[in-house]
Amino acid sequence: MRLDDLEESQNVEDRRRSGGGRGVVLGGGLGTIVLVVVVMLLGGDPKALLETMGTQGGGPVSSAPASAEDEQLAVLVKKVLRSTEIVWAEEFKRLGRQYREPRMVIFSRQVQTGCGAADSGVGPFYCPADQTVYIDLSFYRELKQRFGAPGDFAQAYVIAHEVGHHVQHELGLSRPVDEARGRVSQKQQNALSVRLELQADFLAGLWARKQNDQSRFLEPGDIEEAMRAAEVIGDDALQRQATGRVVPDSFTHGSSEQRMRWFMKGYQSGDIRQGDTFSVKEL
Ligand SMILES: [Zn+2]
Repeated sequence: MRLDDLEESQNVEDRRRSGGGRGVVLGGGLGTIVLVVVVMLLGGDPKALLETMGTQGGGPVSSAPASAEDEQLAVLVKKVLRSTEIVWAEEFKRLGRQYREPRMVIFSRQVQTGCGAADSGVGPFYCPADQTVYIDLSFYRELKQRFGAPGDFAQAYVIAHEVGHHVQHELGLSRPVDEARGRVSQKQQNALSVRLELQADFLAGLWARKQNDQSRFLEPGDIEEAMRAAEVIGDDALQRQATGRVVPDSFTHGSSEQRMRWFMKGYQSGDIRQGDTFSVKEL
């Protein structure tokens, strides 16, 4: 992936060194991975999730100086965010709309958000209440080392997926999920969540296509990197890793195959009208 010529987004706030007072301190390793999996399985309402997170334990948070690798990652996420700003401004214009750019916060270990307090264990997420994408760059180490999905385009896909949630928020596409919350069974809520997540994957693919049409930024192997990331964070793959079995009714993000397929659909079609995951019968 080549984004060298692109400037960095101005909408990024770096909160890595500001500490954060009390927070949930998790040893890395297994605790974190289990938490990531559990949280991903829960999916759905980040607010509820984050409120839960906020009630757990506490302790001082120390912030280590950022490594050279982290600085590279920070530049990467800022450039990717800038790319999404340009692509989505263009797409919204086509739809007769104006794109309001989301904000991004890079944090370390824990963060206060418009959706409550959050810990790194939840992985990157989008909070609709403050239209902000939150990411702890240590997630990329997990993605590479524990999930076996390295590569800059895999990293970009993660950002594009979260920005996809912002696009859904702005276009009102997430409304069916919000309206159903608390009024349908857990199983139905999960099914809606899967549709929302697969649409965010579709929108990530659409972004990649549009940026590539503009600047041929993709390099050989990039799409495979994103596919690998989509594969390893599919609900079935995560469940198998966490519990050794797969329970489709509890899916909130979609299977590996579905996630890869909807990303590719966005990438290949480049047409936002093809991404209506809420009205198709078969996902
Ligand atoms: Zn998502």
